[in-house]
Amino acid sequence: MASQFHIPSVSETNWAGNLTYSAKKIVFPSNLDELRKEVLAAKQPKALGSKHSFNTIANTTDTLISTSKLDKLITIDRQKMWVWVEAGIKYGTLGLLLDQEGFALHNLASLPHISVAGACATATHGSGDRNGNLSSAVRGLEIMKADGTLERWEQGHPDFNGVVVNIGALGMVTKIALAIQPTFEVSQFVFENLSMNQLKDHFDEVYQEGYSVSMFTHWENKTINQLWIKKRSNAKNIHPVKEYFGATAATTHLHPIKINSPVNCTEQMGISGPWYERLPHFKMGFTPSNGAELQSEYFVPRKYAYQAIMAIEAIHSIFVPYLFVSEIRSIAADELWLSPAYQQDMIAIHFTWKPDTPHVLTVLPDIEAALESFEVKPHWGKLFTMSPQKLQSRYPKFKDFQVLAKRLDPLGHWRNEFLNRYI
Ligand SMILES: Cc1cc2nc3c(=O)[nH]c(=O)nc-3n(C[C@H](O)[C@H](O)[C@H](O)COP(=O)(O)OP(=O)(O)OC[C@H]3O[C@@H](n4cnc5c(N)ncnc54)[C@H](O)[C@@H]3O)c2cc1C
Repeated sequence: MASQFHIPSVSETNWAGNLTYSAKKIVFPSNLDELRKEVLAAKQPKALGSKHSFNTIANTTDTLISTSKLDKLITIDRQKMWVWVEAGIKYGTLGLLLDQEGFALHNLASLPHISVAGACATATHGSGDRNGNLSSAVRGLEIMKADGTLERWEQGHPDFNGVVVNIGALGMVTKIALAIQPTFEVSQFVFENLSMNQLKDHFDEVYQEGYSVSMFTHWENKTINQLWIKKRSNAKNIHPVKEYFGATAATTHLHPIKINSPVNCTEQMGISGPWYERLPHFKMGFTPSNGAELQSEYFVPRKYAYQAIMAIEAIHSIFVPYLFVSEIRSIAADELWLSPAYQQDMIAIHFTWKPDTPHVLTVLPDIEAALESFEVKPHWGKLFTMSPQKLQSRYPKFKDFQVLAKRLDPLGHWRNEFLNRYI
């Protein structure tokens, strides 16, 4: 049976609405045979996950192959503690299914509506000093190449660390194995108004206070407006305090942008709940985050955390008119070639922008210049202006990835304008 397709209209945009895909058609295969048929029929296919990227990484002028119907949990391997899933399953759906079986993933991003393969392709991350990004949980994956054949890798294969964060350049990921662990609960505490001065001497302490820690700032008065601390809940590590380095405990649930209603946000105030309902900031069942927005995010090695934050603080008047809020998270080092955290603990400075592309694009070079001396790397799926040469120079294994891409996709079927420019 042929999979469904439709001709994209002006409404066929990414999540943020800042990109209308240039594809001639979008197809929705629901099994491997349908997928193979579409892959073989397309000249320039491109995998499309949950459309949450802000740049053209998922665009093509030919055929978009959506994974929205390849969205099943395949099997839980209780021996290996792996779960095999189809590429398009969303973390929110998977979280619930795993929890019902008594299992958990190590971490989640700010919202649960993102597809597993799309998130892993771009090294999407949450926060936590000991938590690698979401792709660091990958233990195996299978890719359909342009000739319709399948190739499979598991951790330990010499190319495994190259194929996981693949930025869509290697073929169509059909299924992924993720490491799982026994399910756990998390309690979320929010503090308001932490002086940035405290970070100079206490950055590590603050980030080690929870399993996952995020700071939100509007960059005004050198203040972290909100500090979100997510603790794994067991009697020993819950010490609700009224004050933390001069920041005061919130007395009600908060949205990271305080004037917004917290109704979309996951439970705070120390109320313990399952990992998949606390690790993201936003709930599965609601419109996530701020809705109409753009995003950029920059990674710098953890050792430069305070200096990098101060470098951004120093130029904040340039970009604040276009900003909703910034978030600062930590990510543990991994071994994945195109992961921004390749062999280095990182912090990520994130910008949620107002939906004003022209102005946002004019301030990004200033932000990138301010972070230049800290070996900055941009998030693969968000807006950035860094040159391909500079970007490539930040990844020691970039050439190896190019060789791998050439082997798996010798005729460049999976290329698009983004990959031609950056790879
Ligand atoms: C509201 C919002 C919140 C976000 N929060 C976070 C966050 O907390 N942390 C963070 O790091 N990022 C975050 N992001 C960014 C987001 O996680 C990334 O852009 C991610 O790639 C989106 O996944 P997707 O499934 O939507 O991928 P898409 O945008 O659809 O595609 C991204 C890339 O993955 C490729 N791809 C998708 N599926 C496959 C497949 N099956 N095989 C091969 N390649 C594939 C595409 O071809 C493309 O290259 C957020 C984005 C939004 C809109």
